[in-house]
Amino acid sequence: MSETALRLTGKTRVLAVFGCPVEHSLSPAMHNAAIRALGLDLVYVPFRVEPDRLRDAVAGVRAMEFLGVNLTIPLKEQAVSLVDGLSPGAARVGSVNTLWWKDGSLMGESTDGPGFISSLEEAGGLPATALVLGAGGSGRAICFALAERGVRIILANRTPERARRLAEEIGDAGVRVIPMGAEALREACREADLVVNCTSVGMSPNIGVSPLTPDALRAGQTVYDLVYNPPETALLADARAAGARPINGVRMLVHQGAYSFRLWTGVEPPLDVMEAAVMEGLKKEA
Ligand code: NAP
Repeated sequence: MSETALRLTGKTRVLAVFGCPVEHSLSPAMHNAAIRALGLDLVYVPFRVEPDRLRDAVAGVRAMEFLGVNLTIPLKEQAVSLVDGLSPGAARVGSVNTLWWKDGSLMGESTDGPGFISSLEEAGGLPATALVLGAGGSGRAICFALAERGVRIILANRTPERARRLAEEIGDAGVRVIPMGAEALREACREADLVVNCTSVGMSPNIGVSPLTPDALRAGQTVYDLVYNPPETALLADARAAGARPINGVRMLVHQGAYSFRLWTGVEPPLDVMEAAVMEGLKKEA
């Protein structure tokens, strides 16, 4: 029997992550570590939910009064239409990764953008210009979060139409869309003091590949890879070799989880305990 199961009581409240697949998620280890460290009567459980069952699953959250839920791939966009209300951030991004209760209403929040910004501030602050690679779910959250803080964005996506649509949604002249070609990316890298990979390129099991050629990176630049499995991607190894500052996605994972945890419990979670649990989980997978 696991340590978590031993602590279940008649009053234990349930937190959950819904995804499809969900088996890879490190959120249960991360949140249960925080719950144990704080001695809370909560348990965080992963559920595999097929997209066509999400409506039923959210009805279950209401019926069983789960304290809160995280949503992961591919459910974040669909969840927007299943809640009673959205935070302004979730409405802008069009994505929900956290369900929580506010005055009896089931609310949707997106903590990816705030989690990313907190991890960046912790690592030294916001850049003037960022090159963002990827206009998928996380690319959207990160572009909106950076644009809101006045950061100039250069955006490239494999499917250019998706990048153009995102730039239009963000509006004004804050986002410049460029092609995903090597020469355009090299040029953009010279200008950007932050490069963020929001694509899945380099993610396990397809390790060893990078969205940028090594010669694009330079000293004095911060290179942030949202991918956290493996903790050092080919992009981050190239960044290190070029004298740039590498940051992996672990701290963003921890910070976005911490935002959710605060909404659910009102308690400040132990970030270092959460990070240690994530690193332990990654080691087990390696
Ligand atoms: P997503 O919505 O599925 O978007 C995937 C993105 O990757 C799209 O921009 C897609 O381009 C691009 N892409 C996929 N394969 C590519 C390839 N071979 N070459 C170039 N571009 C490619 O996924 P997501 O939710 O944004 O997640 C992206 C990555 O961020 C994943 O590795 C995920 O684990 C990570 N992530 C980390 C955190 C964290 O807390 N650290 C949070 C969220 C996500 P197209 O538009 O052309 O398909």
